[in-house]
Amino acid sequence: MNRTETRPVNVGGVQIGGQNKVVIQSMTNTKTKDVEATVKQIRKLEDAGCEIIRVAILDMEDAKAVKQIKEQIRIPLVCDIHFNPDFALQAIRSGTDKIRLNPGNIEDEDKIKEIVELCKERHVPIRIGINAGSLNRKYKHSEEAMIESAKDHLRILESLDFHDICLSFKSSDPLECIKAYKLAAATFPYPLHLGVTEAGGLLNSTIKSSLALGNLLLDGIGDTIRISISDDPIEEIRVAKKLLRACGLRKDVANLVSCPTCGRIQYDMLPIVKEMEAYLDTVNKDITVAIMGCPVNGPQEASRADIGVAGGKDQAILFKKGQIVRSIPQDQIIAVLKQEIENY
Ligand code: SF4
Repeated sequence: MNRTETRPVNVGGVQIGGQNKVVIQSMTNTKTKDVEATVKQIRKLEDAGCEIIRVAILDMEDAKAVKQIKEQIRIPLVCDIHFNPDFALQAIRSGTDKIRLNPGNIEDEDKIKEIVELCKERHVPIRIGINAGSLNRKYKHSEEAMIESAKDHLRILESLDFHDICLSFKSSDPLECIKAYKLAAATFPYPLHLGVTEAGGLLNSTIKSSLALGNLLLDGIGDTIRISISDDPIEEIRVAKKLLRACGLRKDVANLVSCPTCGRIQYDMLPIVKEMEAYLDTVNKDITVAIMGCPVNGPQEASRADIGVAGGKDQAILFKKGQIVRSIPQDQIIAVLKQEIENY
């Protein structure tokens, strides 16, 4: 099922599913009960472009802290709960916008009913998260088993006439993710939360996540994404935005084009690329900026860039849409580029 055909859910005013916009999520790594640290991290993530934030609920104190956190942030908040139904009930009462909970892991049926009734009353969706690494032992490890496991959890929610649901099928193996999500898209009408789990540090995760999520997103599969990285969660947002831009699913993210350099390079280009790459992360415009090593091939190779520089001897040539505008001394390249981008 294509993302535009999935059954949309509303997470605190942000729609997941039923549209072509893919929502960017991340997760805090602070102790949720440390409200000050958690709010501080969420605000940084908001500024970086995070659209939904998830927090881990490990005890009642965490579940209660959600109320104060919610009062101080601008984006919807999701509570991640394992096993304990009372934490879920408290999180919902504290005002969470969505919960991540696998109902099949809760033995007390009355508690499940209570959670579902409260979710219905407060319009709180539930994400069922299937992880390949923690499948119930009754299943033999496979992508099909992940689908069967989701069906078991879904049966409980659907039998209570609850359909405000998202699903995820994460694995640390990107190829397994692709297969599981493709099967899921062909099986369920619910929106899909995409992610490769335990994907490693920045480089490893970027490669694995781009392979799996890029493949799925281009097929129209996936309504919200979380890039899982063993690093500052800000990196997850940076990678998510660039991936969606590269897939043609976001325009409000600046794009950098830069050459790999070769023996023709004529100026000190690499520090400029580094600084401009960080700067462009803060620019929410549909703009392509090129930084090229030499004037011979530079402007031509980057002719589709909106603004760019190509190296000359100890200076650079500024060009716009492939047309040369003027020369800039090496020490002014960054300032001029930033000004041009601001004026764009
Ligand atoms: S733009 Fe110039 S320096 Fe960069 S890779 Fe091409 S030829 Fe080499």
